[in-house]
Amino acid sequence: MTFVYDALVIGAGYIGVSVAYHFSKAGLRTALLDRGGVGSGASRANYGNIQVQDAELAHSLDLIQAGYASFEGLEAELGQPVGLRQLGSLLLIENEAQWQMMAARLPRLHTAGIRAELVEASHLPDLEPLLDVSALLGACYHQREGQIYPFALLSAFLNAGQKRGLSLHWRTEVNAIITRADRVTGVRTSRGDFSAGVVALCTGAWTTKLGRMVERNWPVRHVIGQALITEAAPTLRLRNHLASAAFFQEAHGGGQDGGTERAILAFSQTREGHFLLGEAARVTCDMDIRATPTGQPAIARLAARFLPALQKLQVLRGWAAAVAFTYDGLPLLGPVAGLKGLILATAFKSTVIVTPLVGRLVTELALTGCTQLDITPFSPDR
Ligand SMILES: Cc1cc2nc3c(=O)[nH]c(=O)nc-3n(C[C@H](O)[C@H](O)[C@H](O)COP(=O)(O)OP(=O)(O)OC[C@H]3O[C@@H](n4cnc5c(N)ncnc54)[C@H](O)[C@@H]3O)c2cc1C
Repeated sequence: MTFVYDALVIGAGYIGVSVAYHFSKAGLRTALLDRGGVGSGASRANYGNIQVQDAELAHSLDLIQAGYASFEGLEAELGQPVGLRQLGSLLLIENEAQWQMMAARLPRLHTAGIRAELVEASHLPDLEPLLDVSALLGACYHQREGQIYPFALLSAFLNAGQKRGLSLHWRTEVNAIITRADRVTGVRTSRGDFSAGVVALCTGAWTTKLGRMVERNWPVRHVIGQALITEAAPTLRLRNHLASAAFFQEAHGGGQDGGTERAILAFSQTREGHFLLGEAARVTCDMDIRATPTGQPAIARLAARFLPALQKLQVLRGWAAAVAFTYDGLPLLGPVAGLKGLILATAFKSTVIVTPLVGRLVTELALTGCTQLDITPFSPDR
């Protein structure tokens, strides 16, 4: 049996649901396919932070700025709340090398209008009273970041898409991409063939596998990232999302395939008061998405060290997810050369912030062959 559509979106994570919504809104008969269900990949497993100041600097600032702006009016457009709220961000600095590295980023951020600033440790308690600053030199602070509730964002795009005719196909794994001459014409799945002139791959950590189906070797790697969540503690309030400046030195970008697990601080809090604590990370080729007996305690130790007030809180659960990344810090966003109709949108350094925007860009690309924002640096064929 063959299902016939105008457009197919593979992968129902943040990027896929946004693309599927925008395709449907543009009048394309669209099917969204996932090997599991909505949020089966990394999009079920994150903090929902809208991250600005940790942007890749060489090519991504326009994308990040436009991404941030696209949250304005989003809830009204989708007709449903997504848990949007403004938050600050602190990138914590533990040594002189990190201080210099953060200082070197500032001029470029400022030129783009991102008012991040270096703050010495003595001023940090004013910004984040829960933080133990004794081992810190300071932090890079940016006031205008934000957070959404991940499941609310996913379901808002899905609901709005369905109202415009979007068709959902869960437990539908793409096993082959069907091509004729220099065109994509559909996909072969565990539930039959789907035909369409446009196929958008939003497949996160699975993208290399999809690439092999069309003889492409896209430079997407993945990290298994772990986190845990505590019981709600409404009287303890984090004012910012906290991450370590060490992310710029050694996390995904610096890790090697098969490297050992490392815990690097990434803390946040939900609107209801649950603390989201991470992140133990391991760059790997496997897809063993399980929290480990070493990773979870390492995260708890980090939390106890930097947020001592949390020590008595109960941990509710821990999890792990495979998160796609590239070694140059740039996403794969654009048409696939030599295969008309095939578009890739994956491996964003920060995904939440670009989610609404990328749906729009991919739709522009599918309809007109170009985008208002220059995405050539992100070409899958770079
Ligand atoms: C602990 C933690 C905290 C994080 N916090 C944040 C944060 O605060 N802000 C932020 O921006 N990012 C955060 N991230 C990263 C973020 O979760 C990911 O970057 C994001 O979810 C990726 O979304 P995606 O849509 O690109 O991919 P995914 O959500 O991984 O979606 C890919 C989908 O493709 C499907 N798929 C793959 N292959 C096939 C196939 N052959 N057939 C059909 N379907 C297929 C998968 O099932 C999956 O659902 C965090 C990650 C972790 C681990």
